[in-house]
Amino acid sequence: PPWTRTGVPPVAGRGCAPLVVGSEGGIELVISALTVRDFRNIPSLSLEPSPGVNVIYGDNAQGKTNLVEALYLLTGQKSFRQTRETDLVRFGQKTANVSARFQGGGREQVVSLTLEGGKRAASLNELPVAVGELTGKFFAVVFSPAGLSLVRDGPSQRRAFLDGAISQVMPRYQRTMADLNRVLFQRNSLLNDINRRLAPDDGLLEVWDRSFSKLSYSVINARCRYLSRLAPFGEEIYRGISGGKEAFSMAYHPSIPGEWGKIKEEEGEELIFSALGRARGDDLKNGCTTLGPHRDDLDLWVDGVAVRSYGSQGQQRSCALTLKLAECRVIREVAGEQPVILLDDVLSELDKARRDYLLSGLAEGQLFITCCERNGFGAMREGMMWRIEKGALVSKRRMAPKRPRPAGP
Ligand code: ATP
Ligand code: MG
Repeated sequence: PPWTRTGVPPVAGRGCAPLVVGSEGGIELVISALTVRDFRNIPSLSLEPSPGVNVIYGDNAQGKTNLVEALYLLTGQKSFRQTRETDLVRFGQKTANVSARFQGGGREQVVSLTLEGGKRAASLNELPVAVGELTGKFFAVVFSPAGLSLVRDGPSQRRAFLDGAISQVMPRYQRTMADLNRVLFQRNSLLNDINRRLAPDDGLLEVWDRSFSKLSYSVINARCRYLSRLAPFGEEIYRGISGGKEAFSMAYHPSIPGEWGKIKEEEGEELIFSALGRARGDDLKNGCTTLGPHRDDLDLWVDGVAVRSYGSQGQQRSCALTLKLAECRVIREVAGEQPVILLDDVLSELDKARRDYLLSGLAEGQLFITCCERNGFGAMREGMMWRIEKGALVSKRRMAPKRPRPAGP
């Protein structure tokens, strides 16, 4: 019968490891060398970045975002752009590679990622590793104009933010998410089959409900616990960005009501299981699972008002930045390491006060900033500036912070 396509529900319950504070050593992750080959419009590029600020500037469509994207992929996560894997390799080429030497986990390490035929292969310190293993070894956080969708668009953007952020500090979470998505897919297929009378309603659905409840509990619990760390940082950062004028808050919005984050495993799983039972009629009618972590959201408010619906452009932008900055702080707290920060094209969109706050708030760690104009970084830290043209670095210059003028007589 067709429903056997759905196979046997997997043994669920590969729980998420607790968030442990596991500082292995050094506090800042610093890239000392980066090479990119046949990635997007970049044929071959190497740079030895400054441990401070690196400004990559150039006209539109020269490869600034591509370079940042290449660097970000070393985290083992998917690109921050909506893109197909095969689009990452330079037109006409078969293979792309991104490699970096970096100081991380208290020692010098080498990471390399090769892309070919829509697949990725990674190595860490010359040994082949699963790509997912890079997550938790190489930390980077990216801000880009597309990041605004995090606040403005539908809940899937915010779930993706949460899931990506959690994966960086709890690499096993990716696995739990993948298991959950698989179970969800199977459950939905079965719902459809029962609906179309291609499969009997003989109890198999309940077996899937068990797996789904177990994995959902792990995911909701991890998200809530992560938020309890993220929220205080977010509140503090937003206060800074708004010059103390506005108060920011956030909360998990579950599709299944409950004291998530506090409820114990068994009780939580039961709660989900019985909610699924009650929603079965709807689920069968719709041919999909109408409750669960894939329907949850993250609520964001400024001064008690929902930012998504009522926030001004500037407030929405500030919220998106706040979430990303708070994510850095959590990584720093949990992994003991300051991630590399990638700011793609965001500075030009901010007013001077917010921009200054952002740049001074990022006084620690290695920074990569892309922009069209190279002006406006006079007051910043030590660093390098690179001009990029047609996927190649064509010039570089050192950057030093402006010295305060000597006091007059
Ligand atoms: P902007 O200032 O507009 O943001 P940018 O410098 O960030 O520009 P990128 O997005 O990095 O520009 O690069 C865009 C260029 O890369 C485009 O011209 C695009 O055609 C090219 N490109 C994208 N993918 C590939 C690919 N697989 N092979 C070759 N070129 C590509
Ligand atoms: Mg760009």
